[in-house]
Amino acid sequence: MTQRKPIVGGNWKMNTNRGVASELSRGVVDGLLHTDGVETVLFPPFPYLLLVRSILRDRGSSIKLGAQDAYPQPDGAFTGEVSIAMLKDCGVQIVLCGHSERRHVLGEKDEFINAKVRAVLEAGLECILCVGETLDERLAGHQDIVTTRQLKTALAEIPGDWLARLTIAYEPVWAIGTGKVATPDDAQAAHKQIREFVGHLYGGEIASRVRIQYGGSLKPGNAADLFAQDDIDGGLIGGASLSAGDFVTICKAAAASARARR
Ligand code: PEP
Repeated sequence: MTQRKPIVGGNWKMNTNRGVASELSRGVVDGLLHTDGVETVLFPPFPYLLLVRSILRDRGSSIKLGAQDAYPQPDGAFTGEVSIAMLKDCGVQIVLCGHSERRHVLGEKDEFINAKVRAVLEAGLECILCVGETLDERLAGHQDIVTTRQLKTALAEIPGDWLARLTIAYEPVWAIGTGKVATPDDAQAAHKQIREFVGHLYGGEIASRVRIQYGGSLKPGNAADLFAQDDIDGGLIGGASLSAGDFVTICKAAAASARARR
């Protein structure tokens, strides 16, 4: 079986302030000092990117710096937006694209998300592409149709060799911030189907290497069961990433699951 290093991201969303961002990132760095076997990313709000970068750098941490979003155009009259070059300039290594809040609160469409994924990967950065169905779509039995459509459009014109820098986050919308978590079996089934679809687009070799994280009310209490599933390669964490202790526990659970698979 292909060994994939789990990846755990902390998406702080529009939370924290300078003091909290500083304390939280220090807490995560200190808590993970002796943990390897998991790739960790912090996604602070834009104004705190440089602050978090300096904390990670000062402590020689391998935790990556992520941005919650990016605009696909290189520069110009796009008031309020942030370019990928600006993010790179701030030390960002990885960018979230297609998060459900951007899709469903801010109205981003699959084609726009594709433009972002292309621009991020073209710039040499890593990308986490989020996909997932709403509750109505799940109740209608359309989970696979929805995630397949989102993936197909978001990955249009993305060459296979760029996929080494892409992680897919399966985040059922009904589980995000709701406290309702997908069962390990349901999440595994969705991840397997996503991996098969990547195989259909790019072939089995690439599909076996691409990492697929789970996101949606992942907490210390349910992390181990989810991470034990064959096709779940870590998690994207919202609420629980605002507690350094909870986030560190989740990262350690991901590292432990990778050790158990060896
Ligand atoms: C997220 O924001 O990607 C997320 C999964 O949030 P939460 O963990 O709070 O459900």
